[in-house]
Amino acid sequence: MMRTLDTPVLVVGTGIAGLKASLALADSYKVIVTTKRNVGVSSSDWAQGGISCVMDPGDSFEAHIEDTLSTGSGLCDEEAVQAIIEGGPNGIRELEKLGVAFERNGAHENDYDLGREGGHSHRRVLHAGDITGHEIISQLIRATLAHPNITLLERVMAIDLVTTGWLKHPGTNSCIGAYFLDERTREVFAVRARHTVLATGGACKVYQYTSNPDVATGDGIAMAWRAGLPVKNLEMVQFHPTALFHRKAKSFLISEAIRGEGGVLLNHQGERFVENLIRVNRWLRGYVAGRSTTPIKQTGAHCVYLDITHKSEAFLREGSRIFISAVWNLESIWPRNRIPVVPAAHYFCGEWRRR
Ligand SMILES: Cc1cc2nc3c(=O)[nH]c(=O)nc-3n(C[C@H](O)[C@H](O)[C@H](O)COP(=O)(O)OP(=O)(O)OC[C@H]3O[C@@H](n4cnc5c(N)ncnc54)[C@H](O)[C@@H]3O)c2cc1C
Repeated sequence: MMRTLDTPVLVVGTGIAGLKASLALADSYKVIVTTKRNVGVSSSDWAQGGISCVMDPGDSFEAHIEDTLSTGSGLCDEEAVQAIIEGGPNGIRELEKLGVAFERNGAHENDYDLGREGGHSHRRVLHAGDITGHEIISQLIRATLAHPNITLLERVMAIDLVTTGWLKHPGTNSCIGAYFLDERTREVFAVRARHTVLATGGACKVYQYTSNPDVATGDGIAMAWRAGLPVKNLEMVQFHPTALFHRKAKSFLISEAIRGEGGVLLNHQGERFVENLIRVNRWLRGYVAGRSTTPIKQTGAHCVYLDITHKSEAFLREGSRIFISAVWNLESIWPRNRIPVVPAAHYFCGEWRRR
């Protein structure tokens, strides 16, 4: 007979969404939280740059909302934009209470070291060095493991939701848990739950090149769809302009900080194909990524190149960890500091919706 675990709340996924939901719900309920690899494997853990949030007294929600709507080219859900932006500072304080240390440049409550990224009219990116996601996930894992109401199950893959719709009683289709496959034992088991939270992340692995880890296969979106829920915005995928191109190795993200420090994109003949550097740096990822596909499509080249040869080795060594991992680890393989890159699927905006 199939083993069945019972719990008030089942959470599938241990990225920032799954862990944060587990911790919030665990104050009132027993929670089982599951993940198909080890707990630390997620896009959340790989996030680098930081979180945009209005924390500077000179900034305002209105300015952040306006920046978001204007870069959203008329496609944003304005209510969602407003709710997310206005909820930002509380979210940051909650993460801080859990131990997340965002970088600061003074002792005052609001003295954060705020970065500025494309599309923003103010400095508003909170970060923890260039490993913001790892810092957040490490603290969330620590709090999860310490919480008496949370049971963590690793390396168990959710296969499908269990729904009462199969009983064919009109109007009574509800989710009562999920089936899982245990990677180590090959056992299939069920978790029966009053509430199920799907926090399985995006689906960027459907693309040939992606900055995401292997777990980003859209499992939760597919499960929700099979259970009869509507899905939306699956075509909205943000591409990052500079992921490493290598015939054998997996792509990984090469930070936009390299372009920020003067790196330029060149086609395979060594020519620039996007406008002058300063403007490009301010332009949005999607735009630059789109422009990068042009020389690739026109010539059949496998990639374009990110060139930072004008910088000295000393400068790069003094720079962030990202320069070192992106440039020096590749040095032995490619001509100095000219990095083969391709646009890669980075951020998946699609989601399933409650009816
Ligand atoms: C390289 C990189 C850099 C980024 N930088 C930034 C940044 O600077 N700022 C920013 O705001 N965003 C950034 N992002 C985006 C951000 O990381 C994601 O939007 C966010 O982390 C998504 O969180 P999540 O919890 O929804 O999903 P994820 O973090 O992807 O977590 C999904 C979880 O679900 C689990 N899972 C999936 N399928 C199953 C299944 N069938 N059964 C069980 N478990 C399953 C996975 O193992 C994982 O634990 C970056 C992303 C990447 C990849």
